[in-house]
Amino acid sequence: MTDARRTALAFAEAQRARFLTEYQDFLRIPSISTDPAHATDIQAAAAWVANHLRTIGISHVEIIPTTRHPVVFGEWSGAGPAARTVLIYGHYDVQPADPLDLWTSDPFTPTLVGDYVHARGASDMKGQVTAVLNGIESALHAGGLPVNLKFLIEGEEEIGSPSMADFISNHRDLLASDFSLNADAGGLVEGIPAIGYALRGLTYYDLTVYGPERDLHSGGYGGVIHNPAQVLCDLVAGMHDASGRVTLPGFYDRVRPLSEEERAELARLPFGDEHFRQQAGVAELWGEAGFSAVERIGARPTLEVNGLLSGFTDEGSKTVLPAKAMAKISMRLVPDQDPREVRSQFLSYLAAHAPATVRWEAKELNAASAVITERSTAEVQALQAALQTVWGVAPVFTRGGGSVPIVADLKQILGIDSVLTGFSQPGDRIHSPNERQHLPNWSRGTDAIIHFLYNLLQ
Ligand SMILES: [Zn+2]
Repeated sequence: MTDARRTALAFAEAQRARFLTEYQDFLRIPSISTDPAHATDIQAAAAWVANHLRTIGISHVEIIPTTRHPVVFGEWSGAGPAARTVLIYGHYDVQPADPLDLWTSDPFTPTLVGDYVHARGASDMKGQVTAVLNGIESALHAGGLPVNLKFLIEGEEEIGSPSMADFISNHRDLLASDFSLNADAGGLVEGIPAIGYALRGLTYYDLTVYGPERDLHSGGYGGVIHNPAQVLCDLVAGMHDASGRVTLPGFYDRVRPLSEEERAELARLPFGDEHFRQQAGVAELWGEAGFSAVERIGARPTLEVNGLLSGFTDEGSKTVLPAKAMAKISMRLVPDQDPREVRSQFLSYLAAHAPATVRWEAKELNAASAVITERSTAEVQALQAALQTVWGVAPVFTRGGGSVPIVADLKQILGIDSVLTGFSQPGDRIHSPNERQHLPNWSRGTDAIIHFLYNLLQ
């Protein structure tokens, strides 16, 4: 072990009590991003982060306003112009605390309960932010780092980061970096760290089928006029075949296959098909043949009907032949599908299958590509080795079924990959009453960041 690494680890160990005091100070700020009544608390939390960055030795720190909540930006370039730059992402905002009566202690009075601290934001993600900053402070104290650092700590994550795409576009040079570390994803399994390296993309459509110019009497027109609700159901039903595959022409052409190694990694997760069946409370699972549930969610594209609307839906009966029918349809996309290509696949399916008896319209509401980070990069390897060193067990590699807007924005606008990790646990009750963070894990997170930074030197 290098002297600097040893010094940094010893420093972190010696500073645990101060680190905890600072973390508790941060938790006392009720930085609820969705509630305008907490606007000054949002400012206070941004100021806390900015001051903290300055205190630990980050030379250039700015609080930059957005149309909503400010971003705390920081930069440390002591590794020199030839070194790579890691962008540390985090958020200082939290979810609302209600229902308050279900909390056993005040959500903004951090309370120690055994090995845990209870508070809103303890896990998501003030704990993760402070664990990372404590690791960086320790490494800076020990005499510098092998990489340059930038910090992007936002205050809008819990409301969907509405300003971030514009913010990143408007600050490309300021944010330019080689790689992003995002500690806003926790462990999936107690005691086993996780690295998230892929997220699915999304396209979303309103599909409306128009029939007669007004609702008609089904006795007078039924069997003569093609019912738009019937047409919509036929169209939707045809979007999957009997083996659960999506039938849009060319839908799977660009889907990157799972390697045997990835399949083996995903099979390490203790989430068999039975887990999903029980969680959902259904009699049987369904989906594309030939893949496990965890593979279908992380690595296969899917199509869902999110809503259906047509005709008379109140209590009682009304013999109507509706004038139109509407469906909300979304697709989760995987590497290397292109949302624009999927759009034309969707439209050509509709053009080929919609009968001449109706008119249809598809309106695109969202389009975002999937993201994937190569697991062979120096940064991912450095993080993998760091987590393994500290936890004594190899981290699991996971692919997320949903999307994280900031990760997609950083990829699309800055062209940089993210790796997701975190030092929370599945039982941390994030977004729920009595949110908590396991403190030994929080300290392990700090140590893992120290190892990560020094691993990048090798
Ligand atoms: Zn979060």
